[in-house]
Amino acid sequence: MSAPAPAILALLDQINAQWPARSKASDGILGDASHQQRASDHNQGDAIDVTLDAEHGPDLDALAEALILDPRTHYVIFNKRIRNRAFEGGAWRPYSGASPHTHHLHLSIHPDKRDDTAPWRLSAEDAAESSGEEGPGGAARVAVLLGVFGVMAAGGLLLRRAKALRPGCPLRCDVPTSRGERA
Ligand SMILES: [Zn+2]
Repeated sequence: MSAPAPAILALLDQINAQWPARSKASDGILGDASHQQRASDHNQGDAIDVTLDAEHGPDLDALAEALILDPRTHYVIFNKRIRNRAFEGGAWRPYSGASPHTHHLHLSIHPDKRDDTAPWRLSAEDAAESSGEEGPGGAARVAVLLGVFGVMAAGGLLLRRAKALRPGCPLRCDVPTSRGERA
């Protein structure tokens, strides 16, 4: 008997909570009859498919970036690419399996970690947030940005004013020629 891994169910709950309007058209955990005919981590409940929904999320490239950081992750497949934590530092490699995985992301976890229900990171930025350290985020970051833009805007004004005060060409350019054009 196989059942969905608790770690996979924990991830599914988090994804559903974060993107409540997302499509689940290509979602899946346990292998269907066709999966049971071949080797698949879905048969043991140690894999999950997450549907691509460009409108409601999640952004599956960003999700893959976060999932590859988790020690429970064995490999991720999405959009004709595969990445294993254990290979090439988790970098994407070309994937040419029967399904191009263009409509869903596939995650396989290590069977020995299937009972680990610790919260998953859903984005690479979650790392900073979950550590409890307040970085230069939120209001502080906005204030810094406003300050930068303020300086830039003031600088632009000064520059324009300086240019206006310093004509780029001799004053006589403004003198109409005998035929009335301005040079
Ligand atoms: Zn799958």
